[in-house]
Amino acid sequence: MKTNNLGYPRIGSNRELKKACEAYWAGKITAEELLNTGREIRINNWKLQSEAGIDLIPSNDFSFYDQVLDFTLTLGAIPNRYSEIAKTKSALDLYFAMARGSQKDEQDVVAMEMTKWFDTNYHYIVPEFTKNQEFQLFSSKIIDEFVEAKNAGFQTKPVIISPVSYLLLGKEKQEGFHRLELLDKLLPVYFEIIEKLEKEGATYIQFDEPFLALNLTDYERKAITYTYNEINNRFPNIKVILTNYFDCFGENIETALALPVHTFHLDLVRCPSQLDDILESGKLANNVKLSLGVVDGRNIWKNDFKKSLAIIEKAVSALGENRIFIAPSCSLIHSPCDLDLETNEENLSSEIKQWLAFAKQKINEVVTLRNLASGEITESDQAHFQENTIANENRKKSTLIHNNAVKNRVASITKGDDQRINAFAIRRKKQAEALQLPLFPTTTIGSFPQTAEVRSWRAKFKKRELSQYEYDALLEKETEETIRFQEESGIDVLVHGEFERNDMVEYFGEQLDGFAFTKNGWVQSYGSRCVKPPVIYGDVSRPKPMTVKWAEFAQSLTSKWVKGMLTGPVTILQWSFVRNDQPRSETCTQIALAIRDEVVDLEKAGIKIIQIDEPAIREGLPLRKEEWDNYLDWAIKAFRISASGVADDTQIHTHMCYSEFNDIIQNIADMDADVITIECSRSQMELLDAFANFKYPNEIGPGVYDIHSPRVPSHDEMVHLLEKAAAVIPANQLWVNPDCGLKTRHWEETRKALIEMVKAAQQMRVAAEKTILA
Ligand code: GLN
Ligand code: ZN
Repeated sequence: MKTNNLGYPRIGSNRELKKACEAYWAGKITAEELLNTGREIRINNWKLQSEAGIDLIPSNDFSFYDQVLDFTLTLGAIPNRYSEIAKTKSALDLYFAMARGSQKDEQDVVAMEMTKWFDTNYHYIVPEFTKNQEFQLFSSKIIDEFVEAKNAGFQTKPVIISPVSYLLLGKEKQEGFHRLELLDKLLPVYFEIIEKLEKEGATYIQFDEPFLALNLTDYERKAITYTYNEINNRFPNIKVILTNYFDCFGENIETALALPVHTFHLDLVRCPSQLDDILESGKLANNVKLSLGVVDGRNIWKNDFKKSLAIIEKAVSALGENRIFIAPSCSLIHSPCDLDLETNEENLSSEIKQWLAFAKQKINEVVTLRNLASGEITESDQAHFQENTIANENRKKSTLIHNNAVKNRVASITKGDDQRINAFAIRRKKQAEALQLPLFPTTTIGSFPQTAEVRSWRAKFKKRELSQYEYDALLEKETEETIRFQEESGIDVLVHGEFERNDMVEYFGEQLDGFAFTKNGWVQSYGSRCVKPPVIYGDVSRPKPMTVKWAEFAQSLTSKWVKGMLTGPVTILQWSFVRNDQPRSETCTQIALAIRDEVVDLEKAGIKIIQIDEPAIREGLPLRKEEWDNYLDWAIKAFRISASGVADDTQIHTHMCYSEFNDIIQNIADMDADVITIECSRSQMELLDAFANFKYPNEIGPGVYDIHSPRVPSHDEMVHLLEKAAAVIPANQLWVNPDCGLKTRHWEETRKALIEMVKAAQQMRVAAEKTILA
């Protein structure tokens, strides 16, 4: 029995790669220095895995920005707009220009698009294809890194994004063709890569084929079959590890099992039933091996050795030891690096820490599991097993985790709890009466600029250089100035500005029971950007109000309405590491109840408009369509539970910032928020069509300007967008607001843009008056 790892975090245990990349971009270090940092990280990772006892150690899992972009460069699929840069700049600068755009030396080239890697929070750079797309071996990174490892004494298994998955990850940039039609042009470059790797001594190659976990068409399935047959015909000696993760093969199982490969890697964390399905199908060819992904690569919990051993034993008894690899479920780039660095008891108590495993610890788990299952047990394996059993027993019984009051409350949720008292039509009248807002009411999404100053106060407060009193006084001053600006510029529904918040999830997590925080648990989100998700370890409850003080303070300053600002249960869940000892839906419902209490307390404090942000609802959608309904049922219900504790005349807003609504518009309507604000300006209101066609019944604020850019739009531009909106949605349903929160913007452009926005709303009102009079 052997061990197999799919990928190791490349950011470095102390985010060395992030720091080096950013220093290079700022011109503070040379390319040579950056390349050196990369080399050190790779060698360290190989050494760590080799010493731990991993048999199949990955190479080409390293990347300076993104592994898909690496392949785009490898395959020479460089979009035309970079051809000038390709001629004049180094390969490294070309690479970063594709990732981030380039505005140097009079060149102004936009970056390639970025999107989420399946259902993770990792973002990859989307390949762009044209009808006459050519491919050629442009970068030899994958071969170089294999040779580099070999020279350092490590025999590695190169990681390849399979041809079909690579094409499917991309987008056609012209009409009139399907990107899979490029397969025959693409394959020769892959053959060249495999040939070179084989010549250098590679025997195993990992072919990532994540699309096998999605719903595929016959055409797509045939392309996969064709590809592996071609590879197998040409390279009969290469041991192809067909690697699938994040879900089951589903209806692709027959296609998959018929492929001429050496090993199938299975994600048995996301899809535990897969092993039985394969063994019972009788379709696994003789001698083909299985890589059992039993250690969760997506979450931070310690493995349950007893449970994993039962799975491994089942596979071993069916296939024999030498047909089995033990592995993490997916690449470990989705895990933080090293739990040993969490030494601060205040952040993470030792009781909670004993339940966790980060990438380095997961590698050891894989090796220990192999040893335990194969009977080659050392004393340290024995100790590891005992420690694992005790930790898991502790976790099951811990008083930190289990809170009966919370469990009982969830169990006694009744039908009415996720429903407002009356339907929207009735609420709407009551709200109109209570709030007395004009037509085209103006508002913002919540945050105002988080200046360096504001951030420095928080840093000082955390270091205890500012007292609570001093810190609050500074925030109060900033809040008051923001209220005054909003009043002066004529905005109708004000916000307090969110200056007290570091991050929209962390801020709530820090105040809720059941959440813990790491000091160094960074995970790559995109390029040099890393996130540190909170850890939800126990039943969630709210010991005391979280936002009421700031909302109340802001409301006390003005006679206009101040909107209370909360993060919704699905977004808090989605952007955290979630406990694995109960269904996600259960945890989400607990969070929903905590948010509900906050909503009710805001109402009691006189806040009449409350926004519950849910930007992550869409990204929580499962990979396979047949699982969508189940997810949407509990996710939408959780939102409704959080929003339904208030009177009819309290207005609930929600906000989402993604631009695809068509396929879930019914579910968005089912959220029954009185007002929804959405991102819209970049698509020139096109996505409003989804709402218009659906006849979306509630009020809606399509963002009229893009907050991701420092550009100040004119009121005419915004009027133009609003007219487009008013052409498909009744004017009395429309709100006027920016796309998203303003925290990343500077004050100057924010002031100007919002003044223009108010002008645009006023112009729309005047025009509407005229039509009514006419
Ligand atoms: N209220 C949040 C803000 O304005 C919303 C952020 C988001 O949608 N991601 O910052
Ligand atoms: Zn947003």
